[in-house]
Amino acid sequence: GKGLAVLTSGGDAQGMNAAVRGVVRTALHLGAEVHAVYEGYQGLVDGGDLIKRLDWDDVARILHRGGTMIGTFRSKDFREREGRLKAAAHLVDRGIDRLVVIGGDGSLSGLDLFRQEWAGLLAELVERDRITVEQADAHPALMIAGLVGSIDNDLVGTDMTIGADSALHRIVEAIDALASTAASHQRSFVVEVMGRHCGYLTLMSAIAGGCDYALIPENPPADGWQDRMCAELRRGRAAGRRDSIVAVAEGAQDREGRPITADMVRAIIEEQLHEDTRVTILGHVQRGGRPSAYDRWASTWLGYAAAHEVLSATADTEGKVIGLRGDRVVAVPLVQAVERTREVPQRIEEGDYAGAMALRGGSFTE
Ligand code: ADP
Repeated sequence: GKGLAVLTSGGDAQGMNAAVRGVVRTALHLGAEVHAVYEGYQGLVDGGDLIKRLDWDDVARILHRGGTMIGTFRSKDFREREGRLKAAAHLVDRGIDRLVVIGGDGSLSGLDLFRQEWAGLLAELVERDRITVEQADAHPALMIAGLVGSIDNDLVGTDMTIGADSALHRIVEAIDALASTAASHQRSFVVEVMGRHCGYLTLMSAIAGGCDYALIPENPPADGWQDRMCAELRRGRAAGRRDSIVAVAEGAQDREGRPITADMVRAIIEEQLHEDTRVTILGHVQRGGRPSAYDRWASTWLGYAAAHEVLSATADTEGKVIGLRGDRVVAVPLVQAVERTREVPQRIEEGDYAGAMALRGGSFTE
């Protein structure tokens, strides 16, 4: 039978479990031998108990759970060729030549590198007498599929990454909670939202949570933004608004590329408006809790599609990311998706609602 393995890597995200379950059960249904690799790429490097055969019931009762039940890890060893040699040997030992990885752009670029090196790694393993020529011949290529697990929605090539919707729910709940306490005391709150270089979570939660102002990396404000922001907050107060909330993306910056932090924003509001202002950094709470309905069904669908992709791939199929485009599941070239993600940061103009909706994923046009 065909040997397939699935692993989760990089930051955890709600919905990873649904994706793993989707991959495992679809692959079993298609007659494959399915393995889970525990602790991300480190599990591939270390082998042993970290690579386990899975059956249908091994992924029962995980659909609704946050995080990733097979663990994730930032593996230094896998960044080295020596580590990837060990990883290849552990896969060949078990007859595995198909790999699904659920992770961010780092994890996915590591995956494609591994695919490209595969034949060379096996030749070297034969030379070292670690595997036989017959073993190498039986596994001429590594067939891969990537799913994007990232709460930040920060990958070009998919409209939504696994975990982004759940994180958005968590952030909006937090903003709602802050809004009621802020209103009681006529206080201002500055909320720092995760997202690394991507403002998606900040912008969407600012709209969904009814914030007064948002600062995101994709729209660095021109000089004088401090005064404009305070004028906006003053206008809100004058109109009878009791709570003021400013959402600041982790990666927010001005036009000169200087970081804008939540604490800077707090100091500006206190100085100009003489208001009691508090900073809330949501941090890892955003990763916590149960996956939303969207993250469960979308990840299930993506997992299903990824299993089909790797099991129907042949030796010369290029590596794909399975993502969502409009209301479709699509397969896009992995290398291209990662490259475009790492290109110059996206920019959107004020009032460009379509551009804002399309932060990251939507900019991928064939
Ligand atoms: P994310 O996948 O969320 O972007 P990282 O960039 O930290 O997170 O990548 C996760 C892991 O993927 C790394 O710890 C490493 O094991 C592997 N990885 C990332 N980039 C590479 C690379 N260029 N070559 C090999 N492995 C990589």
